[in-house]
Amino acid sequence: FVKSSVIEGTQFEDDSDQETIDAKDILKRELQDERKTLPIYKFRDELLKAVDEYQVIVIVGETGSGKTTQIPQYLHEAGYTARGKVACTQPRRVAAMSVAARVSQEMGVKLGHEVGYSIRFEDCTSEKTMIKYMTDGMLLREFLGEPDLAGYSVVMVDEAHERTLSTDILFGLVKDIARFRPDLKLLISSATLDAEKFSDYFDSAPIFKIPGRRYPVEVHYTKAPEADYIDAAIVTILQIHVTQPPGDILVFLTGQEEIETVDEILKHKTRGLGTKIPELNICPIYANLPTELQAKIFEITPEGSRKVVLATNIAETSLTIDGIKYVIDPGFCKIKSYNPRTGMESLLINPISKASANQRAGRSGRTGPGKCFRLYTSYNYMHDLEDNTVPEIQRTNLANVVLTLKSLGIHDLVNFDFMDPPPSEALLKALEQLFALSALNSRGELTKTGRRMAEFPLDPMLSKMIVASEKYKCSDEVMSIASMLSIGNSIFYRPKDKQVHADNARLNFHTGNVGDHIALLNVYNSWRETDFSTQWCYENYIQVRSMKRARDIRDQLEGLMERVEIEVCSNASDLDAIKKAITSGFFHHSARLQKNGSYRTVKNPQTVFIHPSSGLAQLLPRWVIYHELVLTTKEYMRQVTELKPEWLVEIAPHYYQLKDVDDAGSKKLPKGQGRAAL
Ligand code: ADP
Ligand code: MG
Repeated sequence: FVKSSVIEGTQFEDDSDQETIDAKDILKRELQDERKTLPIYKFRDELLKAVDEYQVIVIVGETGSGKTTQIPQYLHEAGYTARGKVACTQPRRVAAMSVAARVSQEMGVKLGHEVGYSIRFEDCTSEKTMIKYMTDGMLLREFLGEPDLAGYSVVMVDEAHERTLSTDILFGLVKDIARFRPDLKLLISSATLDAEKFSDYFDSAPIFKIPGRRYPVEVHYTKAPEADYIDAAIVTILQIHVTQPPGDILVFLTGQEEIETVDEILKHKTRGLGTKIPELNICPIYANLPTELQAKIFEITPEGSRKVVLATNIAETSLTIDGIKYVIDPGFCKIKSYNPRTGMESLLINPISKASANQRAGRSGRTGPGKCFRLYTSYNYMHDLEDNTVPEIQRTNLANVVLTLKSLGIHDLVNFDFMDPPPSEALLKALEQLFALSALNSRGELTKTGRRMAEFPLDPMLSKMIVASEKYKCSDEVMSIASMLSIGNSIFYRPKDKQVHADNARLNFHTGNVGDHIALLNVYNSWRETDFSTQWCYENYIQVRSMKRARDIRDQLEGLMERVEIEVCSNASDLDAIKKAITSGFFHHSARLQKNGSYRTVKNPQTVFIHPSSGLAQLLPRWVIYHELVLTTKEYMRQVTELKPEWLVEIAPHYYQLKDVDDAGSKKLPKGQGRAAL
């Protein structure tokens, strides 16, 4: 050992420790070099000068130029974080998480310390956090606690071209606070060139363009329309894989179910081909993909193999995956659509816009010339696709937003500074719905119930159900049900070879034909009784990950109960009380059995059916309430509970009169139906 004053006092416990430190250093240095190769790097100083000079700037740059990962770091390096946090909003949860992880790596800090993220039900930030990636919806909620966003020095509304509902509302709010907070900087960044509109809206804010690197992309169309785009996508993937030079493939699908189907079929087919073809690494990415699997899409593809990324719209502009050379675009995406006349909202698979198609194609030409395979004809592209996607604000239920704005003290919604105003019919419908939920009084002012509801980051119907649980003394049960409903449709699983076992396990929770809501409660409570056992989940064909998420959500709801001063108490034996609390939130969603076994929604009559997965699907009770409608082959009600019609009049007298629930037609029901547990 050579003793030198430099290393004195520094002792490494063993070699491997030293190695990890070195490896970390090398990684950090490599990442620092990589940052300098991004197109935005050349404009760093100019950009910072512009931020210094102007309060509001619109930034436009090709996807992958470095806007999301670099701009917040530049601002930090230039000292803005000394005056307050830098917020960067994303329309999607996965993007917020993944980008925050990347930036923390680049800065060599632990995720959640200097760089963090905040998404609904998950706050990965700390006192130290200076750069905060968050969903646009979370920033919107922060206004409730801090109406002037005093903790922030810069707000970057990223992916502005997506025009999500929350982003559109944020525009109005940040534009307003910028007037009385001259020190607050606003950056509006977008991947598309329609920046003029943003600039006009923000009082002619200057537009900063970052010229992108873009290689030519060859676009191929199918000769005739495809009957089944899933099938066509799979064939195309395999064709590219066996005939085309190296380069990864990106496929745009509409959601988790499609992605899982394609994943499964691809695995099956490539296994069949054995070693005749090079290895194909399949990487799915969608909103509910577990965090530990999300990073896989960014891993570099080993030589001799090929990566195929199966993605939702998230890969269109929110996430950049390096190395993509081939894009497969079936031309569809899932969008929410809302009919303000009936007040019904459904998720539908729709054709994309030309703007989206072009963004998708562009993903193949980032690092070299690329190819895009559109699974539709050029005639379809020219004549059937709209130019742009309609902003969400014009096709969604506004009740949530109206409640948030009302709790921010914004009463005059008609004159709110919307970039594109929502249809007045939709605003009216939202006000009506909130009035029926007793969140607003007849003058349109927020009630105590409304104020409490606004504390919960949930849809108004769910938050009303929780607030109502106070009256029925069953908040413990209702919180569990709300958490289970919030995790969506991923609680039970059904392995192909054990379907009967899985179905039996599931039926156990429905004993007594209690309905789907109580069945969810039974699942949660049984799991809780086993002290949250993973083994128990396996035995009952329940996804442990979903259950853990439900538990997290429930913990947070319980925290919020304290804030709105609702005592947590249990009334497990009184199922009617629990069902009444549910009805208090969901009375809009009531339906009555018809002679032919279908249902008719009570207000705004529409024919609907009980989803086959429901515990009540065979039983067909006369009156039900449902959680949501999903349109597949039919319009289905998912999560259904039986109801006594008189509850509707008792609980929602503004909304239902006796004649609405008059049961006179019941005698004509066929034998054996409509006599369930009532
Ligand atoms: P923009 O916002 O302009 O589309 P980004 O800042 O998102 O660009 O991306 C810049 C670079 O950072 C891209 O090359 C991208 O691949 C890389 N990158 C972003 N997120 C991650 C991640 N989670 N892991 C690895 N690389 C990432
Ligand atoms: Mg970005």
